[in-house]
Amino acid sequence: MTELHCSVLVVGGGPGGYSAAIRAGQLGLDAVLVEAATLGGTCLNVGCIPSKALLHVADAYAAANAREATPFGLTVTSAQLDFTQTTSWIASVVDRLDAGVAHLLAGAHVRHIHGWARCVDGKTVVVETHADGAGKPLTITTEHLVLATGSRPVELPALPFGGRVIPSDAMFALDDVPERLVVVGGGYIGIELGTAFAKLGAAVTVVEATARILPGFDDELVRPLSRALTRSGVEVLTATAVQGLSADGTIVVAQRTDGSTVELRADTVLVTVGRLPATEEWGLEELDLERSGPFVWIDGQCRTSMAGVYAIGDLSGEPMLAHRAIAQGRLVAEVIAGRRRGWDNVCVPAVVFTDPEIVSVGLDPTTARASGTEIVVGRFPFSASGRALATDATDGFVRVVARADDHVLLGIQGVGTAISELSAAFALALEMGARLEDVAGTIHAHPTRSEAFPEAVAAALGTGLHLTTP
Ligand code: FAD
Ligand code: NAD
Repeated sequence: MTELHCSVLVVGGGPGGYSAAIRAGQLGLDAVLVEAATLGGTCLNVGCIPSKALLHVADAYAAANAREATPFGLTVTSAQLDFTQTTSWIASVVDRLDAGVAHLLAGAHVRHIHGWARCVDGKTVVVETHADGAGKPLTITTEHLVLATGSRPVELPALPFGGRVIPSDAMFALDDVPERLVVVGGGYIGIELGTAFAKLGAAVTVVEATARILPGFDDELVRPLSRALTRSGVEVLTATAVQGLSADGTIVVAQRTDGSTVELRADTVLVTVGRLPATEEWGLEELDLERSGPFVWIDGQCRTSMAGVYAIGDLSGEPMLAHRAIAQGRLVAEVIAGRRRGWDNVCVPAVVFTDPEIVSVGLDPTTARASGTEIVVGRFPFSASGRALATDATDGFVRVVARADDHVLLGIQGVGTAISELSAAFALALEMGARLEDVAGTIHAHPTRSEAFPEAVAAALGTGLHLTTP
């Protein structure tokens, strides 16, 4: 086979691309998906899933290996970890999900082509096939082209990838836990993977250029996490920029903003200073697409500036998150099928899967005030939650932000153990246009950590029962 025609051609089989292709197939469109590597993209293979699996192992190991006696009388002296088995377990989780994606594509009658796609124009793509066709190029013509090529890690000129300097992808292929890990960049990936490897026994130093880690989240949210990192032995150097490696490649040289130099011995240097959309080597230059910074510009229906060409996922802008890519994939297929759909979401939840976890949906107090809105803010600390005390996990709080006049919720944030699961309730409240009174009037099961949500709301309304008013 050297030629193929279809209605919808999706380039890239990550969460954005596979969602678009499956939904297109479900809607009866003749869809083809081209993926050069393994189905599932960054998220399934070297991103969300393996990093959360690693964090799970790290948590289990840290709990089993706790040197200090717990307040409830449990002391464990030592635990053994076979890291080879850890990585093969993570690979098995990834394999199962990858196979699941292939199964779902087949179930939706999507043709999956394994190969590298290169755009010739907005309706024609040539694929260097890997499997069937014995490497012969395949020309695909399509009515609708969906670009979902994802993103790639940023490389620092002073610290090029190679040898002991690695991007996050390579962290899941390590043979062993590094003894001394230097993480350059204290954002999402650096802090999540830094936390995991610290719990697995590595001596971890995070070097962050700005004044604090996770600069995308406000100070109040990050503070409990910073304290926990210090407790678990992670060294965090903020306002510090990496200059390069020593001549023998074993020492990371960095400079603080006060001009002093820091030298950090490392056997592995993980560089996590952000990601950029994957815009190279697939023929973007053959298309007439407007850009928005490094991203491909899209409108509220994921249309690019070229008729019949769409872009979704990390290629199309911030936030570069899998759930945004999945939502866009679903949306774009429905737009192509002629449904009246548009991006009208109030929020894209942001979660940092650390210990404690951080969640943010909608506006934080500073951003809400900056937009000129008068707000009320309510907070409830987990130290006042029965369930948090009963599970010995009292760090953190839930915070709500609402308009002062009509009490419509504008944002909900929180930090605490397992708070990622509350992101669903927070996002739902914002999407439903809930007012403080709606949440206060909803009975939350007792004893659960979710009770902190109506308690924070009650604090904003001045009607809290479980917190003394200031
Ligand atoms: P990708 O997942 O990057 O997929 C793009 C696919 O396109 C790739 O498989 C690539 O091989 C293929 N491709 C590219 N060009 C071509 C071509 N020319 N021909 C054929 N195929 C091509 N997000 C979250 O929401 N939650 C998390 O917990 C989270 N954790 C993360 C942890 C790490 C370590 C990393 C790196 C990322 C994490 N992310 C997380 C981000 C998430 O992985 C991305 O936002 C998501 O994968 C983007 O999906 P996508 O479909 O746009 O692109
Ligand atoms: P990031 O943007 O989250 O963080 C990069 C960090 O590196 C920032 O704090 C930045 O100030 C710092 N930095 C930049 N240049 C530096 C330098 N020269 N020296 C030291 N520090 C420097 O990027 P990331 O951690 O690489 O993650 C990329 C994207 O992947 C995220 O933006 C997010 O969209 C996605 N992601 C999401 C999750 C999640 O949802 N839990 C997890 C991992 C990744």
